[in-house]
Amino acid sequence: MKIFKNIPELQKLLEQLKNSGNITIGFVPTMGALHEGHLKLITKSKTISKITVCSIFVNPTQFNNKEDLEKYPRVLDSDIEKLESVACDILFCPDVEDIYPDGQDLKEKYDLLGLDKKWEGEFRPGHFDGVVQVVKRLLDIVKPDYLVMGQKDFQQFTIISILLKKINSSIKLIIEPTMREKSGLAMSSRNERLTNKEKETATILYKTLEFAKNNFKKISIKNIEKHCIDEIENSGMKVEYFKIVSEDNLEPVFTSHEKQEKSVAIVAAWMGKIRLIDNMILN
Ligand code: AMP
Repeated sequence: MKIFKNIPELQKLLEQLKNSGNITIGFVPTMGALHEGHLKLITKSKTISKITVCSIFVNPTQFNNKEDLEKYPRVLDSDIEKLESVACDILFCPDVEDIYPDGQDLKEKYDLLGLDKKWEGEFRPGHFDGVVQVVKRLLDIVKPDYLVMGQKDFQQFTIISILLKKINSSIKLIIEPTMREKSGLAMSSRNERLTNKEKETATILYKTLEFAKNNFKKISIKNIEKHCIDEIENSGMKVEYFKIVSEDNLEPVFTSHEKQEKSVAIVAAWMGKIRLIDNMILN
């Protein structure tokens, strides 16, 4: 695996590769502390493109919580080993100054159809501005054919798909299903900050999502949501939202008529000082 911190050097190699023939590039942006979920994205990228680039960059502009940014796990050496174990071709791990040479202020603002203001956007103001800012910057640097992201961050990939349309990009967005622990807990870099006991408790998120899926056609949406929120709160976690929404526009689904639409249950909850999110497609 070739490792680059420096943007011109990375771009020089990517240009050479592109000029050498029919090369397609798959790109997997991450913030590191890699787990099997990330590695599955790399493996997927390798099946659809000739060259796979992974980036590791803890993007300061998408954190609205200073402590979360400071405590975000940074374990580059073990990340490199993991990426080599799945034969990732290129790792790009720039510094903040490389990504934001002119400072971190937002320079471009996109109309994201209000999706950036809902759910995660409501509880983490400015989060999606930062996500869009860094993804756009990384795409401009790497210029991939495929962008591979996880279903784990449902709202994130929905917003990025809007961004790609807004900028008339030909990059194809590929979504991989969420990788879970045997317990059902969605893999997340933030899980590293949980104790074993907390990880066990946090499986309530998966259990309630399963409940929502199994009862989607049987119980009213209001009652599903109430039951799931109660269960999560009873476990000791603090719920920010548990909502059944339309997959396309993330608007709440209210009536059984709308159950025909593609719906997804989305949840965000705190385990102590750690905020976890998860989701499940219901139909
Ligand atoms: P992150 O490093 O958390 O910013 O995530 C980088 C990419 O990995 C994003 O596209 C995430 O949606 C994806 N990802 C994170 N966790 C998982 C998981 N458990 N399964 C599949 N993809 C994931």
